[in-house]
Amino acid sequence: MIQRLRRTVSDLHAELVRYDLVAWTAGNVSGRIPGEDLFVIKPSGVSYDELGPENMVLCDLDGNLVEGDHSPSSDTAAHAYVYRNMPEVGGVVHTHSTYASAWAARGEAIPCVLTAMADEFGGEIPVGPFALIGDDSIGQGIVETLKGHRSPAVLMRNHGVFSIGKDPRAAVKAAVMCEDVARTVHVARQLGEPLTIGQDDIDRLYDRYQNVYGQRSPR
Ligand SMILES: [Zn+2]
Repeated sequence: MIQRLRRTVSDLHAELVRYDLVAWTAGNVSGRIPGEDLFVIKPSGVSYDELGPENMVLCDLDGNLVEGDHSPSSDTAAHAYVYRNMPEVGGVVHTHSTYASAWAARGEAIPCVLTAMADEFGGEIPVGPFALIGDDSIGQGIVETLKGHRSPAVLMRNHGVFSIGKDPRAAVKAAVMCEDVARTVHVARQLGEPLTIGQDDIDRLYDRYQNVYGQRSPR
């Protein structure tokens, strides 16, 4: 199980590159080992070309290194805090993707003005508090914002995106979709004010996509 997750988490980092969500070594993916108080995360400071299953790092839910030759990502404390406080979460992703981070820099939530956003996020993509790296502040901000919110992604103010999912792949999908809608709504804003979608229509779209579309199980 741990070997398989090392491979999955390592491979998913290539998706961050493929969708142009990361520069240099910024950005990271982690995945919880089902049934264990452990998760696999990217090593700190290793380039994307050199990532492989063997250099992924295994940590406990306090963010301590359990197994690995490298030190874990500098964002490990935030990932660990999310796993400790949101037991339903099986994957966490962090990026500084350009358009989403531009919204975060303004501290502005992305309004739900696209049906794809209603499907995937069930409403706006919210802004989390300004928080410095080094303690549990970032993790607390993510959990406070996303607990009880439909959105699987949060724009941490002046920073970037954290996304969650039932597994690491779902969290990566949320990060990709977040950047996609951040870009589209940004472009729409250039020539005017995007039209709003009524809350009842947002609810219907979200319900259909989460429960019916593609026979996928609810997130
Ligand atoms: Zn960051």
